[in-house]
Amino acid sequence: MALTGLEIYKLLPQTNCKDCGYPTCLAFAMKLAAKQAALKDCPHVSEEAAAKLESASAPPITLVELKGDDGAVKVGNETVLFRHEKTFYHKPGLFWRLRDTEDGDELKRAAAEADAYHVDYVGIDLYLDGFAVEAASSDPATFNAAISAVKSVSKKPLILIAPSGDLAKAGIEAAAGSRPLLHAANGENWEEMAEVAKEAGVPLAVQAEDLDGLAELTQKLKEAGVEELVLDPGVTSYRDSLEQLTSIRRLALKQTFRPLGFPVITFPGANSEVDETLLAAEQIAKYGGLIVLEEFNPASLYALLVLRQNIYTDPQKPIQVQPGIYEINSPDENAPLMATTNFSITYFSIANEVEGSGWPGWLLVTDAEGMSVLTAWAAGKFDAERIAKDAKTFDVEGKVSHRKLIIPGHVAVLSGELEEEMPGWEIMVGPREAVDINSYLKAMWSN
Ligand code: SF4
Repeated sequence: MALTGLEIYKLLPQTNCKDCGYPTCLAFAMKLAAKQAALKDCPHVSEEAAAKLESASAPPITLVELKGDDGAVKVGNETVLFRHEKTFYHKPGLFWRLRDTEDGDELKRAAAEADAYHVDYVGIDLYLDGFAVEAASSDPATFNAAISAVKSVSKKPLILIAPSGDLAKAGIEAAAGSRPLLHAANGENWEEMAEVAKEAGVPLAVQAEDLDGLAELTQKLKEAGVEELVLDPGVTSYRDSLEQLTSIRRLALKQTFRPLGFPVITFPGANSEVDETLLAAEQIAKYGGLIVLEEFNPASLYALLVLRQNIYTDPQKPIQVQPGIYEINSPDENAPLMATTNFSITYFSIANEVEGSGWPGWLLVTDAEGMSVLTAWAAGKFDAERIAKDAKTFDVEGKVSHRKLIIPGHVAVLSGELEEEMPGWEIMVGPREAVDINSYLKAMWSN
């Protein structure tokens, strides 16, 4: 549980020496409690008090990092139950499960295909995060060869599903140079798994039938020296997943219950009676950390990646594009000039429509602090003065020989004012929806 300012004060030297930059120890304690100061700023705190204070100020959910030969996945370190309270920080990693019982060439082909999967979503590159390779053969040499096959075509992070010390060692050896997650320690094998994880310096997943079992195991593993743990509560249904993952998150954040203060791994395709994509979607929202899929289906994966992107976008920081003048389909000086805001989804909706229609065009993207057209207009961030200023900043007069500017139909009200701000220009009112741009240009544009 986080300490109050008064509890912190009792652990400080109480000499009011001011070396920390605050007038009294109490003032420093209050700042520490509010996380606005760092303990290291007091050079006089005793070792014993520092240990107590540091453990009280450790994040309620441990950060766990998996590294591939290129790229990493970080999960944990979340601080809120609901995104609107602040934000979620670390997106759940989406992995695809491969088994070492597959033929080596088929493994390579499948991993290469999934590795190459990328989609552009409003300017953001979305892709699968990594692979979970399972020692389904129970043979260390076969497992080792399968990991090497996957690594030969992908540099993404790995999860090694290896239920014994021997298999885990074979997996770690093949994954040398990366930092995989080892899955998983349970009531029987935890000592040997802890030894392998500790020696290799890799995180370890923990499997148990219920939350009590998980809490008991994480304590044993921490005492054995493994700090980076991931919980596998073995959930296979919508209800079970929602209840258990919410309980884990609540206990970690609201009670600062350290034994469950770790990210969670799930296998949404483990129950054939449940739709894997739907359960994965639920776990993206609440509260999966690493999500291992049975199927690699680009259509479902795209939906999951977009959902994840939306949930893990800070609501206070809209996705933006750089303000400026953008060229679409190699426009010349006669091409139409359109204005919009720098909200990413607005920009891409218009740019995609213009590009798809084949019209060459210039798009003046104004700095509206990442808001959509109507929101920005209502907030006073997309007004005549700002559009005219950005038109000048980005030198639209140097780009087109005509003097016509098309504004979004939703802000038709700006046309008169904008003509005053931009003398000599004709302000045309465009369509309200991006999808109507092609028919609007066909009907209205002549030069
Ligand atoms: S440096 Fe430490 S002892 Fe001195 S005032 Fe600050 S908190 Fe108190």
